[in-house]
Amino acid sequence: DSPVSPAPARSERTVPPSGDPLVVLDRVNKHFGALHVLQDIDLTVARGEVVVVIGPSGSGKSTLCRTINRLETIDSGSITIDGRPLPAEGRELARLRADVGMVFQSFNLFAHKTVLENVTLGQTKVRKITREKAEQTARTLLDRVGVGGQADKYPAQLSGGQQQRVAIARALAMDPKLMLFDEPTSALDPEMINEVLEVMRQLARDGMTMVVVTHEMGFARSAANRVVFMADGRIVEEAAPDQFFSNPRSDRAKDFLSKIL
Ligand code: ADP
Ligand code: MG
Repeated sequence: DSPVSPAPARSERTVPPSGDPLVVLDRVNKHFGALHVLQDIDLTVARGEVVVVIGPSGSGKSTLCRTINRLETIDSGSITIDGRPLPAEGRELARLRADVGMVFQSFNLFAHKTVLENVTLGQTKVRKITREKAEQTARTLLDRVGVGGQADKYPAQLSGGQQQRVAIARALAMDPKLMLFDEPTSALDPEMINEVLEVMRQLARDGMTMVVVTHEMGFARSAANRVVFMADGRIVEEAAPDQFFSNPRSDRAKDFLSKIL
C-alpha cells in the first residue's frame, strides 16, 4: 500500500474515543529489570470500542494486555477500569479479572475438564451463579461460537480453532466489560484462523469493548475502530485503520507495515 493522500496536519495522537471511557491508562510505566518495557503509555478505550494493537515482537504488546487485567503490576502511572483503579489483590482483584476477559495465544483450557465444565467453572466459583444457570449460559455461548456440539468433550479432542472458540466462550461466560485478546490466532493452523476471527468480528458487532493484539491486518482493517502501533515500549502512533494502513505517519510504522503487508 502506498500513501493515497498527504498526511493530515495534526499530531499523531488525535483520534478521540467515541464514547465514555471504559479503560484509561495514564502514563503507565513498567520495567523488567533494566528493560523499560512500557514507557509513558496513555491509552483510553471507550465503551464499545475495538482497539487493535500491533507492533513488532518484543514491543510490549503482551505486557500491556497483562497490566490491564493485573497479571503484571506497573511501576508508575494508573489504570482505571470503569472509573475504578485496579485493585491490588483479594476478592476485588478476582472480580476485576472476571470483568476483563482474556484470551491468549495458547488456548489454556483446563485439560481435565470438559468443554462445558470449562465454561461453567468461573461462573459458579467467581460469579456465584448456580450450576444450573451457569450451564444454561455456557450452552448458549458454546452455540454462539459454533461449538455447541462439543460440550461434553475434553479440550484435547477439539481442533485448535474450536479450543480457542471455547476459550472465548469461557471468557464471555463471566459477562466481562472488556475482552483482551493477545494474538488469539497466532498458534492456529491457517484454515482455523478465520473461524476464530469471525467470532471476534461478531463480538465486535455486538458492541463488546475489545483490545486485540494481532498480526491479522485484515481483521484490524475491518473490525478495529482504532489501531494502536507500539514499538520499543511506546505507543508510537494511533489512528483509524484506514488512515493507519494507507498513510502511516511514523517511520517505525511504515517500516513495520512494509514488512508484513
Ligand atoms: P510483545 O508481546 O510485543 O512481543 P512482550 O510484552 O511480550 O512483547 O515483551 C516485551 C519485552 O519484555 C520483551 O523484550 C520481552 O522479552 C520482555 N519481557 C516480557 N515478559 C517478561 C518477564 N516476565 N520478565 C522479563 N522480561 C520480560
Ligand atoms: Mg506478545
